[in-house]
Amino acid sequence: MKEKTNVTEIFGMNVFNDSVMKARLPKAVYKDLKKTIEEGTELNPAIADVVANEMKEWAIEKGATHYTHWFQPLTGVTAEKHDAFISPTDDGKVLMEFSGKELIKGEPDASSFPSGGLRATFEARGYTAWDCTSPAFIKETPNSTVLCIPTAFCSYTGEALDKKTPLLRSMQALDIQATRLLHLLGNDSVKSVTTSVGAEQEYFLVDKEKYLQRKDLIFTGRTLFGAMPPKGQEMDDHYFGTIRERIEGFMKDLNIEAWKLGITAKTEHNEVAPAQHELAPIYDSNNVATDHNQLLMETMKRVAERHGLKCLLHEKPFAGINGSGKHNNWSMVTNEGKNLLDPGKTPHENQQFLLILASIIKAVDEHADLLRMSASTPGNDHRLGANEAPPAIISIFLGEQLEDVVKQLVTRGEATRSKKGDKLASGVHSLPEFEKDATDRNRTSPFAFTGNKFEFRMVGSTQSISDPNVILNTIVADVFADVCDQLEKVADDPKAVEMEAHELTKQMLTEHQRIIFNGNGYSEEWIKEAERRGLPNLKSMVDAIPTLVTDKSIKMFEKFGVFTKAELESRAEILFEQYAQTINIEALATLDIAKKQIVPAVMKYQKQLADSVAVLKETGVDTSVQEALLGDITDNLKEMYGAIGVLAEDEAKAKAMDEDVEKQARYYHDTIFADMSAVRQPADKLEMLVAKEDWPMPSYGDLIFEV
Ligand code: ADP
Ligand code: MG
Repeated sequence: MKEKTNVTEIFGMNVFNDSVMKARLPKAVYKDLKKTIEEGTELNPAIADVVANEMKEWAIEKGATHYTHWFQPLTGVTAEKHDAFISPTDDGKVLMEFSGKELIKGEPDASSFPSGGLRATFEARGYTAWDCTSPAFIKETPNSTVLCIPTAFCSYTGEALDKKTPLLRSMQALDIQATRLLHLLGNDSVKSVTTSVGAEQEYFLVDKEKYLQRKDLIFTGRTLFGAMPPKGQEMDDHYFGTIRERIEGFMKDLNIEAWKLGITAKTEHNEVAPAQHELAPIYDSNNVATDHNQLLMETMKRVAERHGLKCLLHEKPFAGINGSGKHNNWSMVTNEGKNLLDPGKTPHENQQFLLILASIIKAVDEHADLLRMSASTPGNDHRLGANEAPPAIISIFLGEQLEDVVKQLVTRGEATRSKKGDKLASGVHSLPEFEKDATDRNRTSPFAFTGNKFEFRMVGSTQSISDPNVILNTIVADVFADVCDQLEKVADDPKAVEMEAHELTKQMLTEHQRIIFNGNGYSEEWIKEAERRGLPNLKSMVDAIPTLVTDKSIKMFEKFGVFTKAELESRAEILFEQYAQTINIEALATLDIAKKQIVPAVMKYQKQLADSVAVLKETGVDTSVQEALLGDITDNLKEMYGAIGVLAEDEAKAKAMDEDVEKQARYYHDTIFADMSAVRQPADKLEMLVAKEDWPMPSYGDLIFEV
């Protein structure tokens, strides 16, 4: 008998969500808290005490003994410090206590989190503050049950030291400007606008036993060596293929764990590369979606262990094979439930939609560099511009229907018709006729309009989706603000507002149409065409980081209170540091594996071969094959040994450059990277020359085909 899973029963069971609050909190307290959540008003301390107490009771019933302020420091992963609920009493016993103060604010010893110099200038301590718009939850691991309170992490003077604070600020900026815009367009009843986000998460699963024999995977999350197996992904037989039983077991477990946490895990399938999979939840409000994605990544890793698997979230675990990304689906929705990116049946008549669309096009064109920056990680450098991911150039795909509307507006000043989605003839009578999506999917576009949302496809699989959404929200708020300024000039005359909106739409589309590209984004021609159009092509993370601190960026972020100049500078510094540290670890791991594993294994095999040549020679057998092989091995070993020497020398130089983080990061990018590849090339050739049983680690084939 199969064990039954009652999804409706387990969904959200570990979340202190609205229905739990409604059921457990006194009515007045619930109402007050709801107001704070929905309108962002300050939480009354007396109310906080009641909420904290009830939250504690609930958590204890679930088996929790500790609570934690769960936050996202700039390292990208989540951080938590557990505190027991206990409070000593006079008679030598303890009470289980949790006050409103403890709920609202925490003071983790945060000195070892990166701050990019912020805390040195301001205050040494960091503070965490409850983000009551993202519900508290219980995290169950085999050895602990902890109440997690999603929090923002700031310095004493309020500088953001995390990824949540700027996200909340950017959501607020967009809310204010979008609501202002809607009011100007006559939608007076709208109270607020939030961004909805759905993040599709790609990942690899490999066998844990094999993983443990790969020091590169252990230390860096990606393979630093490995010859291509005879078969890669060329047959495309993995994509959407039948999911293997072992993987199904993992997915089933993962879904249950995600559902318990209120994560709406919805779609699961095999991806393009062997051993690669994807999970997509149903979209949610921007900050909840971000918290959930962080939790999901963590849960994936934990559940994999239970199945003797390792979950690889790195953007490029295997060279030559597709890497992993995250599609960030983004839209804006009013408090009345209207999606502002819904074009309706006749987009050409939908003035408000067209104005919003034109604003987004302008925002993306004006700040393409920042958007590209927001998808930068050391790992993602291997994907962007490589075959399987969108190039490092930002462009927008609109689809045939909208592109046609834009064309009409730009060339004739007005749009009078919309192309219809045709019926899709399947040729089979028993199948219903499908309505063909008017926006055909273009998988090669980094920023695609997909019906009622934009899908930003550059994001790396390890990243917090806070990064791209902070940028998206802010750049769109920025353009909305300009549009509002224009509309406000004629605000007392609705007819004039309408005409001005139409003019602005045309103008923005005309000025920024260069960013629209519906063709194949992976082609060589596009790179040339983009250059001709003057679109930025920032090839690496190191090239992209400085975009954060241009005068233009600083001005915009400060205008909307998303980042201060000091915060931006600190973030740029941290990113350079992170880049340098990542490549440094990769370089050291390359040296370690090359010197301690590969070279000794090759020498051993070389000796075996030499011995066999000697023995065979004595018996008068022709040894030309053995000698040729020996020669080949010796040549590659020599080349590899030389490359190891160069890498070791340059690595020492790189390390010594730490007085200038940007210069150091550039050196790692320009020199160390090439040095590592020079070690790898002969090593991968050697893998093909040495007997399998003598090679010191599992091959690519073992890792990706035998899961
Ligand atoms: P795919 O892109 O793989 O074809 P879908 O387009 O169905 O899949 O959805 C991908 C993701 O986009 C899901 O997480 C889904 O919840 C999310 N999504 C769908 N509609 C919206 C929307 N209006 N705003 C934000 N995200 C959305
Ligand atoms: Mg998608």
